[in-house]
Formats: sequence, C-alpha cells, structure tokens
Amino acid sequence: MALKEIITIPDPVLRENCSPIEDITPELKTLMQDMLETMYDAPGVGLAAPQINIPIRLIVMDAAQKEDSDEKEPIIMINPKILSSSDDRSVYEEGCLSIPEYFAEIERPAIVKVGYLDEEGKEQERDCEGLLGTVVQHEIDHLDGVLFIDYISKLRRDRVIKKFAKAKKVITI
Ligand SMILES: [Zn+2]
Repeated sequence: MALKEIITIPDPVLRENCSPIEDITPELKTLMQDMLETMYDAPGVGLAAPQINIPIRLIVMDAAQKEDSDEKEPIIMINPKILSSSDDRSVYEEGCLSIPEYFAEIERPAIVKVGYLDEEGKEQERDCEGLLGTVVQHEIDHLDGVLFIDYISKLRRDRVIKKFAKAKKVITI
C-alpha cells in the first residue's frame, strides 16, 4: 500500500467528468486500498479518485470514524449513482481535502439511495443518511467535476479560488 498525493484547487483534474470503470483489475484493487490509506492518513471521511489525479469513477468513505476508537467501516463504491433523493434536507459544515482549511455549511438531501458496484464488481444499493448521506453526495460530485464551493455564493467562491491560485504561485516560484 502507498499514500497518494492529494491535489488541490485550481488543478483542472478536479473539474473533469470522470470515466466509468469497466474492469476490476488487481491494479484497481490496489488503488482502492491506497485511497483508503490516503483518506485515513489525511485524515478525511471520504476521497474520490480525481483527488489523487486519476479521473475515474471510484470513491472511498468512512463516515463512522471516531477520535477515540480504531474501529473502521470503510466503504468502497465503483461507478456510484444517486438513484433517489429525499425531500428532507440536512445541513453539514463541509470541507474538502482538495480545498484545505476552508469550510462552509452546505444543504443537501438528507437521505439518498445510491447504486454502485462493490470491490468485487457486484451490484449494490445502499440508503445513505446522516453524515454518510452528505459524504456520498460530496464524493459523487467530485466524479462530475463538482466541488462543494459550487454551492456557495459566487462572491465567496471567487474569493476562495483566488486565495488558492495565489498560494499555488508562491510555491511554484
Ligand atoms: Zn472533496
């Protein structure tokens, strides 16, 4: 297993429409484990493949992590798709490993039903609610090149993007 480098805005890969996965190869299985390791190390509750510079439709999550416990409940989803969303909405303060140290309250459907392939390529469906409901929507957005800052006002978004563009310049000079 290996830790992967997480890319940050304004990297254009984060805006790509990611490709569906056709085959579950040994390389893909290694990638899933690397993504989980990278997510836990960050630490984060979710990670999408484009965030490590690989624009394919693969996400990993663990919304059950607690500070005082090592118990893990990793979830891997290949080609995930939201099949239905509740009318009920919930609000969480979201952050993103690709937009470090920026947080904003985002409102999303409270419960979503997600269809996906598991790591063995078997079709699955899962009702995701609570924190997992928000995390899975945030990660699936990544596969369509959508970031949580797209839900805040343009004024605030432009400010965030500008800040990161400037930070990037300082590093590359
Ligand atoms: Zn994110």
